[in-house]
Amino acid sequence: QETLWSAEDSLNELEALAKTAGAEVVGKMLQHLRHPDPATYLGKGKVQELAALEQELGFELVIFDDELSPSQQRNLEKALNARVIDRTTLILDIFAQHARTREGRLQVELAQLEYRLPRLSGRGIELSQQAGGSLGAAGVGGAIGVRGPGETRLEIDRRRIRNRLAELRRELEEVREQRTLHRRQRAALTMPVVAVVGYTNAGKSTLFNALSQADVLVENKLFATLDPTTRRVVLPGNQEVLLTDTVGFIQRLPTRLVAAFRATLEEVVDADVLLEVVDVSHENAIEQSETVNEVLRELEAHEKPRVTALNKIDLLPDPDRVDPSLYPNAVVVSALRGWGLEALREKLAQVVAEQMVPLQVLVP
Ligand code: GDP
Repeated sequence: QETLWSAEDSLNELEALAKTAGAEVVGKMLQHLRHPDPATYLGKGKVQELAALEQELGFELVIFDDELSPSQQRNLEKALNARVIDRTTLILDIFAQHARTREGRLQVELAQLEYRLPRLSGRGIELSQQAGGSLGAAGVGGAIGVRGPGETRLEIDRRRIRNRLAELRRELEEVREQRTLHRRQRAALTMPVVAVVGYTNAGKSTLFNALSQADVLVENKLFATLDPTTRRVVLPGNQEVLLTDTVGFIQRLPTRLVAAFRATLEEVVDADVLLEVVDVSHENAIEQSETVNEVLRELEAHEKPRVTALNKIDLLPDPDRVDPSLYPNAVVVSALRGWGLEALREKLAQVVAEQMVPLQVLVP
């Protein structure tokens, strides 16, 4: 994936992701190498340096920003006496924590298993070759269709994963059909849908809760069928909308995770209006917004009407320096402190109203 971001930016984002996943970060390390070492990814000296740090700090986990090969991962775990994972595994972990809809959960498990399958221990391959030899002695063809006792653990693991993968794909098909039903139900409600989008950590969930809190109590049975990330909100002018939260966007999303990510973004494609949350206190606020735009473009959702919440204004020493004219329909807010929420609700109501086509009643 082409990117103009520096390795430092990427590492800082990895740190934010690790925190999102619940880790306490004790240190960061960057090495400039022309080629990663095929055995350990890092150079020998860096591995020793890290191993010494492990002795000193006793950390349990090392997260690499790049994808590691299975043998690199194993060699590093041995040398560092700590668990070693890569960016993809970390992101999958976060998706797993955040996947709230059935489809999201299935899609994440699918991605996790697809990632694990080719990475099952290489030691098993030797075993598998031995087993092949003994099977050959027992008579070729005898084992076909009745795999069992002669099977190595690796083969059993692989077969289990493949079976589970097939099951997951079937379930996903079913869920998709149900989802279409949900959508029709929603369409029947003729209530405009507003999807909350934004970079990870921008404050989407905080804003989603702040905007929908007042209405939780009046939630009625009709909406009980909607997943927990969708709530009804009454905007000024008595404009009712369905507000739906989405998973956070990240820079450098590994390609193999795109499907899992998109499954959680179907609301965006269906939405009438997007509410983009930008963390204006972040030094890369503009780049993050660019990433969001790129994804929206891929989803063909970038031309939907949009309201921008310029969030975390409370963290800026000089809030007047924020230029709302850089973003469409921007309102300056602090979701945490509840600042600017009325103005945001007004702006949303206005943009949603512009979207609503007045019903033409033809009288013969
Ligand atoms: P999400 O990943 O976009 O859903 O972001 P969250 O809503 O989980 O917020 C990420 C972090 O930013 C949390 O620690 C929030 O408490 C914090 N946060 C959210 N909104 C604000 C805000 O307006 N001001 C400040 N200071 N912190 C905020």
